[in-house]
Amino acid sequence: MDTKVLLPREIDLDKCITANARYESARLELEAIPRLVESVVRLEGPVVATVSFERDLNSMRLVKGKVEADVILVCERCNEEFVHHLCLEFVLTPDYERAKACNLLDKYEFIDCNDAGKIDLYDIIEDGLILEIPAFPRHDEDDPACSRTGSEWSYGEVAPEAKENPFAALAALKGSLKP
Ligand SMILES: [Zn+2]
Repeated sequence: MDTKVLLPREIDLDKCITANARYESARLELEAIPRLVESVVRLEGPVVATVSFERDLNSMRLVKGKVEADVILVCERCNEEFVHHLCLEFVLTPDYERAKACNLLDKYEFIDCNDAGKIDLYDIIEDGLILEIPAFPRHDEDDPACSRTGSEWSYGEVAPEAKENPFAALAALKGSLKP
């Protein structure tokens, strides 16, 4: 993947909208997203974003983005590190009043521009990616890399049933005594 382009941190929203600007597979500077970096064991490769700016048919200013990153997490079941793919997609707009007037409040998430009409893309992306991190990180259910796949879990569930049930044993004994 070509990640030579660096995503700018602050962008002038109206300029980007007017220009229909688009950043294709742009890399984020990791130094600028320390909260994400601290939320994982480490990042495996770059954080890559495609972000575009446009005005929709209702004249709403939209920021559309897709961000992907591979992060290392620790599996809660086996305590081993594993790679987890984070994927964040968003459609944001600062035009809350217009959305309200058009009955589109459900359709978008809202952002604020600062006084200079700029938005901080890194803040938006960092917050979004952190929310994508699973609360209980685990290998996939059937991942053979998870050392607790199968045996340990099923042991706990099967063990009580496998134990001899004294009542069943008694019933079997009674049965065998019947003429
Ligand atoms: Zn595991």
